[in-house]
Amino acid sequence: AIFGSERVNSSGINIDIEHEWASFSGGVQRYMTRQWKKGPIIGGQPHEATAVAKVVSPYRRQETVGAVHWAGNAEVEMALDKATHAFNRWNRTDVNERTACLEQLADLLEIHRDELVALCHREAGKTIHDAIDEIREAVDFCRYYAVQAREKFGAPMVMTGPTGESNELYLSGRGVFVCISPWNFPLAIFLGQVTAALAAGNTVIAKPAEQTGLVAARATELMLEAGVPGDVIHLLPGDGATVGSHLVADPRVAGVAFTGSTETARLINQTLANRQGAIVPLIAETGGMNTMLVDSTALPEQVVQDVIHSAFGSAGQRCSALRVLYIQDDVAERVIQLLKGAMKELLVGDPAHHETDIGPVIDADALAGLERHVAKMKKEARLIAETPLSDDCADGYFVAPVAFEINSISQLEREQFGPILHVIRYKASELDRILDDINDTGYGLTLGVHTRNEASACYIEERLKVGNAYINRNQIGAVVGVQPFGGQGLSGTGPKAGGPHYLYRFATERTRTVNT
Ligand code: NAD
Repeated sequence: AIFGSERVNSSGINIDIEHEWASFSGGVQRYMTRQWKKGPIIGGQPHEATAVAKVVSPYRRQETVGAVHWAGNAEVEMALDKATHAFNRWNRTDVNERTACLEQLADLLEIHRDELVALCHREAGKTIHDAIDEIREAVDFCRYYAVQAREKFGAPMVMTGPTGESNELYLSGRGVFVCISPWNFPLAIFLGQVTAALAAGNTVIAKPAEQTGLVAARATELMLEAGVPGDVIHLLPGDGATVGSHLVADPRVAGVAFTGSTETARLINQTLANRQGAIVPLIAETGGMNTMLVDSTALPEQVVQDVIHSAFGSAGQRCSALRVLYIQDDVAERVIQLLKGAMKELLVGDPAHHETDIGPVIDADALAGLERHVAKMKKEARLIAETPLSDDCADGYFVAPVAFEINSISQLEREQFGPILHVIRYKASELDRILDDINDTGYGLTLGVHTRNEASACYIEERLKVGNAYINRNQIGAVVGVQPFGGQGLSGTGPKAGGPHYLYRFATERTRTVNT
């Protein structure tokens, strides 16, 4: 079956056509000096809470983007109360009406694309190209989940049973869903979670990442404009450890969708396990220790292009990004030489420039953590190459893309969320041990394999516990409705965002039996 066939993914813009690029960048330019001021949105109304966080650009610390009021206990309680009361009405609202709001939202995201690109760029430090992709993915989520919801939440499924009885199976929302999102896809993941929960009939309280409250607030305003009722969607920007954990611990919450680090997912899981009331599901999409295996039949030029893309694209701040590259010894030297050459060509700098390949990391904490890891690797591993930073990096949170040769994946204690690649050479006879080592990390998100031997690709893919395997291509940039995305083990509880089964995670199944 072709799932979701009544829709196509958004086309974005063709940046190679000069006048298209010129008119787009002119549009974005209008928002490059704007200041935004946002805060909690509860019951359709903006709230000015007491704590205010200043927002600065990750690529230029002197440049403010605006300010975000953070929610406190009073706002959390107000949102919980309103979301709880609105649930039955929204859950009974015809699915066509619910999904019409999501499709209207997709249109509004496209209409406001230039502002959203500027916001993702200035608040999250995205390159303009990454910001364009971000808006496209958000649009795709809205339209995809709308189609999925109509297919699944429309007519009940008739089950055959004894004569004199009618039996039906149908899906229903669960109640109040808390959606907790990360900063690395401030619009796409934020809206992916929220639109899935809404489409399934839940009311939603969204808690965006501390770093990207402005993008989330603008997206919430557009949801309201698209017709999502004010008591159905609430936004609570703020601190994860206080606002997030307060929400998760509340017995009125019927489900939690979380995307972020494995450590935070564990904390949320513990809170849910210890709280009173119903046992509720946690949808967790977390980090990875993603590997690519390159054997001696692979094409080195293609490998290097895909490695550069997978390890350093978006400054390595993708959960899918390549962290450990295994190269079979007979081709290792050649691949490493090409990799060195390609890394020299990377342009790290102002993410506003058309030619920039790699922008900043998100904030001072991220920078410090990555610098610590690089310093450690410089002592314990062999430096392969480090791309120099350009002059316009002086004022931002930039990490130079770097590659190290190490002996074993067990040297890496945790995911390093930045442009740092680790390389391991292996002999063909060591393949099984390597596959065990990778599984032993406990992570299971993406896998890349480069080989011209089909049987070998199948063998590796079958042995490794991963969610998304990519053969002979890069391993990032999963497309909605094409590569449903999500992993297992330490990488999450297994939902596939942008896939045909995702909405089931936000729903409860019910049957109705009538004695006729
Ligand atoms: P994070 O875990 O620090 O924060 C994520 C969210 O959780 C934020 O909104 C934060 O405020 C909130 N939070 C923090 N502590 C909390 C608590 N005790 N209770 C409730 N909420 C709390 O992650 P991050 O740094 O924002 O994001 C980067 C991580 O996200 C990386 O590990 C990356 O691999 C992962 N990620 C995974 C996917 C995926 O689909 N698997 C996608 C994107 C990012």
